[in-house]
Amino acid sequence: MRAQPRASHYINGRFVEDDGGVLLPVIYPATGEQIAALHAATGNIIELAIEAARAAQPAWARLKPGERGRILRKAADILRARNEELSRLETLDTGKAIQETLVADAASAADALEFFGGAVAAFHGDYVDLGGPFAYTRREALGVCVGIGAWNYPIQGAGWKSAPALAMGNAMVFKPSENTPLSALALAEIYTEAGLPDGLFNVVQGYGDIGGSLASHPVVAKVSLTGSVATGKKVLALAGSQMKHATMELGGKSPLIVFDDADVENAVGGAMLGNFYSTGQVCSNGTRVFVQSGIYDRFIDRLTERTKKIRIGDPLDPDTQMGPLINKSQHEKVLTYVDIGRSEGATLHLGGGVPSLQGFEGGFFIEPTIFTGVADDMRIAREEIFGPVMSVLTFEGEDEAVARANDTEFGLSAAVFTRDLPRAHRVIADLQAGSCWINHYNLAPPEIPFGGFKQSGIGRENSLAALQHYSQLKSVYVETGDVVSPY
Ligand code: NAD
Repeated sequence: MRAQPRASHYINGRFVEDDGGVLLPVIYPATGEQIAALHAATGNIIELAIEAARAAQPAWARLKPGERGRILRKAADILRARNEELSRLETLDTGKAIQETLVADAASAADALEFFGGAVAAFHGDYVDLGGPFAYTRREALGVCVGIGAWNYPIQGAGWKSAPALAMGNAMVFKPSENTPLSALALAEIYTEAGLPDGLFNVVQGYGDIGGSLASHPVVAKVSLTGSVATGKKVLALAGSQMKHATMELGGKSPLIVFDDADVENAVGGAMLGNFYSTGQVCSNGTRVFVQSGIYDRFIDRLTERTKKIRIGDPLDPDTQMGPLINKSQHEKVLTYVDIGRSEGATLHLGGGVPSLQGFEGGFFIEPTIFTGVADDMRIAREEIFGPVMSVLTFEGEDEAVARANDTEFGLSAAVFTRDLPRAHRVIADLQAGSCWINHYNLAPPEIPFGGFKQSGIGRENSLAALQHYSQLKSVYVETGDVVSPY
């Protein structure tokens, strides 16, 4: 299986190679086989990309917002037309099941490009009446923005960052995760085909050090990172030292609260979506499932039955529901957490093992895993595992559930399953999390803001909030009379 792109980087509207950069092998996580070999950026590549972005941005920012938007909407159409081929590429890059990548990756990037392509024309400054004189505000581009992606949603992440950046008149240099370098290059080609002027969306590859060089480059005005809290702290410090704008989309250990009166099938479906989709590699996952005692037995019975039916295997088979984890080290990390859960005294209710799959012996597969009898202070209930490992905890009362749900350094997401609507809204209002659901889990359409409270990040992606985060506000006072001066 090969997925070798024409070159490692995409700068100023074309593919660029510099084989002086550190080798970056691309591994298909289902087999462990190498499917491409790229090179990390050298200093020269970084300078070329930043300079291309810097040179192209001012003319782009002067276009009418709707004209910029038209190009984004055209790129969205191309993404949709090529969804099958892009989904296959994303499955090779990430190992995620094709039935997921067909609906959640390039398709989600297309949704973002379409949304921002339209919304930007309606995103404008204000008029302020000062009783004669007046003022107005302008939303202006920041300049050159850097996007740094994670490996779980590579093309979606590239789309979610570049769409609001470009719509607002910025240029972007994007560094995909070193684990998943391929699909951002495909997005760059599509932007060019849609008519995006050269230099406005550039892709450079590399490990964390290249992300650091980009984030601290003096020409860069803003950094948007999706990654772990530890990386977020480093990148935010780099940005802060030069007063750059920053958006941080980081990790979580989110609570999903199931009350006695919930529809049990919906609650189970939500908990499975919030733990097993993308083989559990979703930042917003509801990995602490708090179940009220009155529904506990029914919930566990159905959860067990339905989880046992999950089909693990060949990610390119449309019937497969769960692929492997991204790489060997993530595989080892998740299996270590299974051991930690057992040794802490939690009950390994289901899964936890490595399935034997003919033809995929070199892959990084793990069974969907459920721990019951989990206590709040166990590491499996406090630390982000980033794999298909659900911790089920029980509770009696509403106040208790809220207090325990909030007892975490993270604050990305939360959900409540109940038929009691006043309670649903009351509990959601008390939960310390940025992206919440009532009676569902993990939906993130571009119309609504996405991002975290507490250590899970700052700033927001998607919605008009993202346009604010990719722009700066200028206020203009306009005098209509004479200058009153004491001099
Ligand atoms: P990571 O933090 O290891 O890497 C993320 C990106 O940052 C990669 O591109 C990496 O090369 C780069 N990077 C690493 N060190 C850097 C440094 N010092 N300076 C600049 N860049 C650096 O995260 P990951 O393992 O790729 O992804 C998993 C993590 O991302 C999880 O914690 C997950 O919760 C989080 N995540 C968050 C969201 C969200 O929207 N909130 C979405 C997906 C993933």
